[in-house]
Amino acid sequence: MFARLARRLRLVDEGGSQDRLLEQVAADVTETAPLTGRSLLSERVSGALRRVPRDRFVPPERHSSAWTNVALPIGLGQTISQPFIVAIMTELLDLTPDARVLEVGTGSGYQTAMLAELAAEVHTIELLDALAARARTVLGQAGYRNIRFRTGNGAAGWPEAAPFDAIIVTAAAASIPDALRRQLRAPGRMVIPVGRPGLEQSLILVSKDERGTVSERAALPVIFVPLIDRGSEESE
Ligand code: SAH
Repeated sequence: MFARLARRLRLVDEGGSQDRLLEQVAADVTETAPLTGRSLLSERVSGALRRVPRDRFVPPERHSSAWTNVALPIGLGQTISQPFIVAIMTELLDLTPDARVLEVGTGSGYQTAMLAELAAEVHTIELLDALAARARTVLGQAGYRNIRFRTGNGAAGWPEAAPFDAIIVTAAAASIPDALRRQLRAPGRMVIPVGRPGLEQSLILVSKDERGTVSERAALPVIFVPLIDRGSEESE
C-alpha cells in the first residue's frame, strides 16, 4: 500500500523500464514533429533503440536511472544524451546499412552503439582520454566490431577517412566547423547542435545534395555540453 503510494508520488525511484522509455521517446517524437518533420521513428531506429542496452553505458551508480528519458552525468562534466535526442538525431541522418558515419563526442558510447547498429562503419572521436578509453572497452564488450576510435579534437574531423555519408556532433559548436562540412559526402547529412553554452542552442540539419550544394535548417532547440576547441593532438 505504502509502496504503491510512494511510487505514485515518485518518492521512490521505480528505475523505469525499457518499454516505458520507448513510449516516452515515441511521444516526444510526435510532439516535436512540427519542428523536426518526423512524426514517427522508423522501424530501423526504434529497433536499434530496443537493442542497445543503455544501462551498460551509464556509470554503476546511475544504473537505476538508465531507462529514464533524461541525460545523465558520466563524469568529467560530461553527459550521456537524453534517449529522445539520441533517437531523433539518429533518425534525421537517414542511415542506410552501407553508410559510413563520423561521430564527434563519443562520450559514453551510447550514441556510437546506435550508429554501429545501423551503419556499416562508424568513426568516432572523443577529446577526453578517460571517456574514450571507457567507451572503447564497453563497446568492445558489447560486441561491436565496426567502430574506429580516435582521441583528439573532433572539430577537425577525420580527413583520412572522409568523405562520410553522415556526420553527427554531440557537443554544441559556436558555428559549424568548416572541416566537417568539407568531409560530408555529396549526398550526405549532418546533425550538429550550434549555439553558446548555457544559452539556447539549435540542432542544425545540414544536407548536401549530389551536386555538393549545402542547405541548413534548424530542427529543434536543444541543450548540449560545449564542443571544446583545443589543439588537435590526436592519437589512435
Ligand atoms: N553522445 C555522447 C554525448 C557525450 S557529451 C553520449 O550520449 O554519451 C559530448 C562529448 O563530447 C563529451 O564526452 C566531450 O568530452 C566530447 N567533446 C567535447 N569537445 C570535443 C571535441 N572538440 N572533440 C571531440 N569530443 C569532444
